[in-house]
Amino acid sequence: MKKITTIPGDGIGKEVMEAGLYILNKLDLNIDYSPQEAGKELYEKTNDNLPPETIKSAKNTDATLFGAVTSIPGEKSAIIELRKALNVYANLRPVKSYPGVKGIYDDVDFLIVRENTEGLYSQIEETTKEGAIAKRVITKKASQRICDLAFQQAIKEDRKSVTCVNKANILKKTDGLFKETFYKVAKNYPEIKANDFYVDATAMYLITDPQRFDVIVTTNLFGDILSDEGAGLVGGLGIAPSGNIGSENGLFEPVHGSAPDIAGQNISNPVSMILTISMMLEYLNQDYYADKIKQATVTVLKEGKVKTPDLGGSNKTMELAEEINKKLQEIL
Ligand code: ATP
Ligand code: MG
Repeated sequence: MKKITTIPGDGIGKEVMEAGLYILNKLDLNIDYSPQEAGKELYEKTNDNLPPETIKSAKNTDATLFGAVTSIPGEKSAIIELRKALNVYANLRPVKSYPGVKGIYDDVDFLIVRENTEGLYSQIEETTKEGAIAKRVITKKASQRICDLAFQQAIKEDRKSVTCVNKANILKKTDGLFKETFYKVAKNYPEIKANDFYVDATAMYLITDPQRFDVIVTTNLFGDILSDEGAGLVGGLGIAPSGNIGSENGLFEPVHGSAPDIAGQNISNPVSMILTISMMLEYLNQDYYADKIKQATVTVLKEGKVKTPDLGGSNKTMELAEEINKKLQEIL
């Protein structure tokens, strides 16, 4: 039996969580849920957007499924704090085009592995007489574990190459270290091709020739920027899943936020959450169900009979989830 913490959060986080759990509960898996709260709505009631019980549950269960939270001005971000508390050092974002979803290309399929704990996100900033300075922290330890995870993930997903994205020509010490560590780690994986590109060239190639990428491993800020570029390449936030992985915890969340502009209308696209659940099941070694969920979702997108407004249709969140479940039941 697997234990899962669920945190719906705010806005469309709640809608997509409901749709996702509807699918998850259709599987013959013995899941023990620990429903928890976080986010702005909770903050307005309790003055706390990430209570200790939520963190404790996330730490003590096999995986955590997170919807989305609305940020609160002047308060720490609940999701960033939760990622820190769980020490999930890798952010995995598959970028894949699906038939039936309008993107710039229809044959894109790569994975971005983003370092999640340091780089410019260390938030070490100071104001000086002349202006302000931000420190960019790159450690051997964090570089090694993220590169290692990228190669392991490449093997797991049967991919052929890993590309280290950096700016070592300018940031000679920090990205120099990241790149050097990457090639050291690569020696342990002779069956996977290793190469590297500068981040500026990568930004261009993602537009002109995204098929050249298989797995990208990169530092925190570059990963943040390239991930959104990736989502844009293949048809947007409504279908983009992600996972945060550490040595002891897994935290899974759709790439999108709480989208206050469409919240409450039940028109959010549940696909990002449903594909996120598929990633979570893979992490929990439930590859059979992970594959089936993906397969059912891809088929429904391809058929295009039931579509939420972001996909060009006029269906509701749960109507799309029900259609995916129908397909799922046919292939289980
Ligand atoms: P937050 O501040 O919580 O990040 P946001 O306003 O930035 O919220 P996002 O969720 O990041 O909103 O997404 C930006 C826009 O993309 C949304 O306002 C919404 O219109 C659209 N969008 C995002 N996710 C979905 C989804 N699952 N289904 C449909 N539209 C979506
Ligand atoms: Mg946003």
